[in-house]
Amino acid sequence: MNLEWNADMLAFQHEVRAFLDAELTPEMRAATAGMTSVYAPPSLSLAWQRILHKKGWVAPSWPIADGGCDWSAAQRYIFTRELTQAGAPPLSPMGLGMCGPVLLGYGTPAQKARFLPPMLAGEELWCQGYSEPGSGSDLASLQMKAVRDGDDLVCTGAKIWTTHAHEADWIFCLVRTSRLEKPQLGITFLLIDMRSPGVSVRPIVSLSGEHVQNQVMFDEVRVPIANVVGEIDDGWTVAKYLMEFERGGSMYAPSMQSRLGALARHLAATGQPKGMNGRIAAISVDIAAMDALELTFLAGQSAGTAPGPMASAMKVIGTELSQKLTELELEAAMPYAAAFQPQLALAGGPIPGFVPPADGKGVGPPYAAKAILKYFNDRAGSIYAGTNEIQRGILWQYLGRRNS
Ligand SMILES: Cc1cc2nc3c(=O)[nH]c(=O)nc-3n(C[C@H](O)[C@H](O)[C@H](O)COP(=O)(O)OP(=O)(O)OC[C@H]3O[C@@H](n4cnc5c(N)ncnc54)[C@H](O)[C@@H]3O)c2cc1C
Repeated sequence: MNLEWNADMLAFQHEVRAFLDAELTPEMRAATAGMTSVYAPPSLSLAWQRILHKKGWVAPSWPIADGGCDWSAAQRYIFTRELTQAGAPPLSPMGLGMCGPVLLGYGTPAQKARFLPPMLAGEELWCQGYSEPGSGSDLASLQMKAVRDGDDLVCTGAKIWTTHAHEADWIFCLVRTSRLEKPQLGITFLLIDMRSPGVSVRPIVSLSGEHVQNQVMFDEVRVPIANVVGEIDDGWTVAKYLMEFERGGSMYAPSMQSRLGALARHLAATGQPKGMNGRIAAISVDIAAMDALELTFLAGQSAGTAPGPMASAMKVIGTELSQKLTELELEAAMPYAAAFQPQLALAGGPIPGFVPPADGKGVGPPYAAKAILKYFNDRAGSIYAGTNEIQRGILWQYLGRRNS
């Protein structure tokens, strides 16, 4: 197997590096290095998105006719790697990585024309309204009801854990339009303007103290039928399509390689604590294996293979490896990790009640101050986008079918 890039790919890599040298500011690089959550604060991610948009590089896998780049798997891999290593902020995934692909697959021409251009340009921020209090893993049991009234659906209910709902312009929701013989039937995929009368947002503050997630309440919210994606009552088909992108759309290895590099540099500079070399070597091997898996996955996708159950495997391995890495980062930070000092990092969202010291300083290096926040944030990796227990169940069923 030849793992060298050919001349075209090397030229592409060079072009990406030149673009990053010119456009990615030192402030953006520093902010990204301090990130505690997997989500960059929208002010940062949208600022970077607008720069990428000007260059036409916002949506590497989308068709060119819809504003994407239609890049090959190799190009997408190189692009992601270069951006991550240069310290570019990650873009918000809810629009470009989830709702966008759904609109490309199931949207009407009018929906594509209305929603895709501002999504690409970073002018409208999206959030995902799937989970409800009482309906997470068992998503098909969702209750938020939508009743037809003329040309509208009138929506009442609640969504929970909604990332960035307090900043989003739009939410894509699964709502119940009918009660049929199976819970998966009678669900509809609906786009709702967050400024509609009857929508209210309550913050959920996480273990790390940050406000990134929310509960969203809908009280007789009127939504035009034109905002239904796919068929009424057949939203489960659309939802399953989206979930494959949600689980398989991330590349974990490049950012873990950057984090491992930062950890190794920190240890080399401080010389403390001793005895971590063996564990760092072991995790670097695991990350290299993840890297190879992601390349295989990308190659399959560009050959037209749907993400399928492989997306579940990637989600489990990627999030659990990332959690293992946060444990090493925490140990390397030693006592400094015990201090709560988010002013030295870039918290994923506001921290209610936290007043940073007037001089903005803290104890220990910024690297160490971020470790505990990152550790807490990463605990959620095995829960969001469908828990890892559920992903293991999907894989088990798939392997059972394949081997029977
Ligand atoms: C940080 C964060 C961000 C999130 N962002 C969003 C978002 O933007 N939009 C959104 O819609 N949702 C979001 N979620 C919600 C997330 O998708 C749900 O938390 C997840 O699907 C689990 O649902 P639950 O919390 O109701 O747990 P439950 O479904 O109640 O599960 C509780 C426990 O039981 C286990 N369990 C349940 N059923 C089974 C089973 N059949 N087999 C084995 N084990 C099982 C689960 O694995 C889990 O350990 C987010 C969650 C977090 C933590």
